[in-house]
Amino acid sequence: MARTVDENPSLELGLDFSNTVDWRNGEKRADSLATFSSLVDWSIKKGIIPSDEAPSILRRAREEHAEESALRKALQLRETIYRIFSAVAHDEHPSVEDVGILNRFLSDYPVSSSIIRTGEEYGWATVPGKGAEGRMLWPIAKSAADLLTSDQLGRVRECANEEEGCGWVFLDETRSGTKKWCSSTGCGNRAKVRAWYERHERAHSHASRVS
Ligand SMILES: [Zn+2]
Repeated sequence: MARTVDENPSLELGLDFSNTVDWRNGEKRADSLATFSSLVDWSIKKGIIPSDEAPSILRRAREEHAEESALRKALQLRETIYRIFSAVAHDEHPSVEDVGILNRFLSDYPVSSSIIRTGEEYGWATVPGKGAEGRMLWPIAKSAADLLTSDQLGRVRECANEEEGCGWVFLDETRSGTKKWCSSTGCGNRAKVRAWYERHERAHSHASRVS
């Protein structure tokens, strides 16, 4: 049976993919995509592929000795998505090179569309044309392209925790459009704790000065 891909992935899928590395720009950098199978696991978690398809994707990549090159491509896509949306978040234009790389990903995994019957209904089926990784990377690239061309682009932010080099990018869905941190419990909380300590220390040194 033809395996289909979601032609309209969420606008955040590409950003989520970018966020598979923690502390991207900091000393604690931690990459959760260390192997091809971690890419497959992440894709299952995100609903890009069904879990029962994982064995065949892994087998195909192994047989074609494509695990390393597929992971390399995934990381190239991820870093490109980060650079594009980090630029956007800082009110800059992404570089021509990065948009070119994204375009290459979109065209490297050509999709074919056809009509399939599922039960009593008919629907569009989109099947990416090549490579074990195409099933996973095409929807991610498509999501990034959709976001880049959407009216939500002005809501892309990069976490304000530059001190520790968070580097997470996200869509600000608050009504006020003033979301600064990737999460209020993560970086936002750390920033609050830090501010509290700074205030506390200032108050403390002030107190010791006057005494
Ligand atoms: Zn953060």
